[in-house]
Amino acid sequence: MDMLSHLVKQFADGILTINQQHQITGWQAAAKELFHLETKDKGKLIDDIVGQRDFISQLETYGHLELTLPYQRGKRTLIMGLLTHGDNYQLIARDITASHELDKLRQDFVANVSHELRTPLTVVHGYIEMLQDLYLDQDERLLKILRIIQTQTDRMKNLVEDLLLLSRLEHKPMNPLQNQTVDVSDLIKNICHEMQHLVSQQQHNFITDITPDLNLQGEPTELRSAFSNLVLNAVRYTPKGGTITVRWFANNKGKHFVVKDTGIGISQEHIPRLTERFYRVDKGRSRNIGGTGLGLAIVKHVLLRHQGKLTITSKFSQGSQFMCSFPKQN
Ligand code: ADP
Repeated sequence: MDMLSHLVKQFADGILTINQQHQITGWQAAAKELFHLETKDKGKLIDDIVGQRDFISQLETYGHLELTLPYQRGKRTLIMGLLTHGDNYQLIARDITASHELDKLRQDFVANVSHELRTPLTVVHGYIEMLQDLYLDQDERLLKILRIIQTQTDRMKNLVEDLLLLSRLEHKPMNPLQNQTVDVSDLIKNICHEMQHLVSQQQHNFITDITPDLNLQGEPTELRSAFSNLVLNAVRYTPKGGTITVRWFANNKGKHFVVKDTGIGISQEHIPRLTERFYRVDKGRSRNIGGTGLGLAIVKHVLLRHQGKLTITSKFSQGSQFMCSFPKQN
């Protein structure tokens, strides 16, 4: 046996060979164990082994897939990728059950805490509004305190809502999306209109260049969240008098949503980390303007579920550009 085949045999990741008809033709020790394979399985369709229809074409579309296989000895989560070898395939499978379970524990905990916080916060919020009405003509100092409490509870409410949204995005299965044809042109026009009225109060120049009737397959509320987070950020991180340009267009690479601002900008070293939860360049500033630190994490998750990609370019103190690109087939 040569060195390479010896290594493949010892490999902890499972490797299966699959022919043009999508039948399994061979496997090494790790794959035998991961998929509980026996000699009689040779020649079976990979779709039957993993319990997924059109498995190979799904892998070709998405690059890799995570699947939980319900075998006798408890459930196993595998991440799988495909290599093409002429007319044949090699399927590489890694057991990620342990990290998957830990991840799920963390996600469930965050979702439960957020859910539990929602009701008391709504009650507090309601009572503050009532007190403000009751003491409307009274002590200015008391009203000031009530306004501060209200701002802080609003912040907590936004945080809880964003955490819940993020955990819903993580929990819902990635593929297939409950696809609908979304009139993105209309959606973006609405977002810009709302922002101009709600946040900006005419303090920014808004330029929009939106290709009409350019649709996308996807989930409208998710796309709305992602796009409005980016426009809201542009407004928040651009001082008065700045310009915000919003574009939606198609070219030979796909469809693109672009938000460009002439705001405070971001230094290069921060850019790769911006989509991490609670990562902020300036914590104090973000909190003061009502940021939750979760906006770009939400954008990232929504794009992931729409096979989209986020590209951030920015120059410190000159401005930033956030571009969401969706592949052509979408
Ligand atoms: P936040 O609620 O803090 O805005 P986000 O996840 O939306 O959270 O953004 C993360 C961080 O990225 C922000 O705290 C800010 O430092 C930076 N950021 C996001 N958008 C912009 C922008 N348009 N211009 C400058 N900085 C930005």
